[in-house]
Amino acid sequence: MGRLKISNLSKTYDNGVRALKTVSIEIPNGMFGLLGPNGAGKSTLMRTIATLQDPDEGSIQLGDINVLKQKNELRKVLGYLPQQFGVYPKLSPEALLNHLAVLKGIINRNERKERIESLLHRVNLYDVRKQKLGGFSGGMKQRFGIAQALLNDPQLLIVDEPTAGLDPAERNRFHNLLSEVGEQTIVILSTHIVDDVKELCSGMAIINQGELVIQGNPIQIMDTLQGRLYQKSISKGQLENYKQEYQVINERLYLGKPIIHIISESHPGDGFIPIDTSLEDVYMLQTAQS
Ligand code: ADP
Repeated sequence: MGRLKISNLSKTYDNGVRALKTVSIEIPNGMFGLLGPNGAGKSTLMRTIATLQDPDEGSIQLGDINVLKQKNELRKVLGYLPQQFGVYPKLSPEALLNHLAVLKGIINRNERKERIESLLHRVNLYDVRKQKLGGFSGGMKQRFGIAQALLNDPQLLIVDEPTAGLDPAERNRFHNLLSEVGEQTIVILSTHIVDDVKELCSGMAIINQGELVIQGNPIQIMDTLQGRLYQKSISKGQLENYKQEYQVINERLYLGKPIIHIISESHPGDGFIPIDTSLEDVYMLQTAQS
């Protein structure tokens, strides 16, 4: 399978919101993280790649498939887990997968049964395959979502904000599953959670206010700040002063006390200590409102 090439994609909604502004991204095989704050344009981009909506301009190529022109071809090789994925609460995973498999055209009964069994094992829901989906935890529902997205053995899997609301153990399990899928498939993970990308993705892009602000592998992207980051623990009342004097890109609390991260081309003295860059710092810098 070739790579996914997104070129100069633009979209303005009827209400005037410019959700995508000439976005170009190249996505190789493996796990790719699309990171951005709420409203950045991630879902718009995911839905456009999934052929659920059209852009105003631009093109998308997946291997030999011209995605925007050959929608049916794309849909055959696409798995998609949308942001809001509803299940029929009274059905079991086995029954719902069976239903969805018929819709996807897997009409041979034995083939369907085999495929569903193997998927249930893969997402670790085999033991609960006859229970009702309505009683499942968030993590179990998301794993079911992946199972349905894998029914057609896709070459491209798109998952839109899949870990929001999962507890840490569920999130871990979900990460492991995605990472396995990513060994044979292009997986695009859209998220506002920096750690999702840091833990999983070999490639990534940051999108903010409809614009692509940086793309590459996470290490390269972290390196863009190397040697320029400093940290200091301050008291609450001082924050505004520091913001006046320095380029504060990250502020957080540690044991109830604010810690700030600043960018500086040389050592600022003043009690600051140099620190290694983190993806979160780059993300905070790249998505700061100007
Ligand atoms: P994200 O997934 O990063 O949160 P979205 O793609 O959902 O971002 O939204 C990008 C921008 O487009 C937001 O300002 C959002 O309010 C707007 N938007 C999304 N969908 C629509 C729509 N159907 N009609 C009008 N505006 C929309």
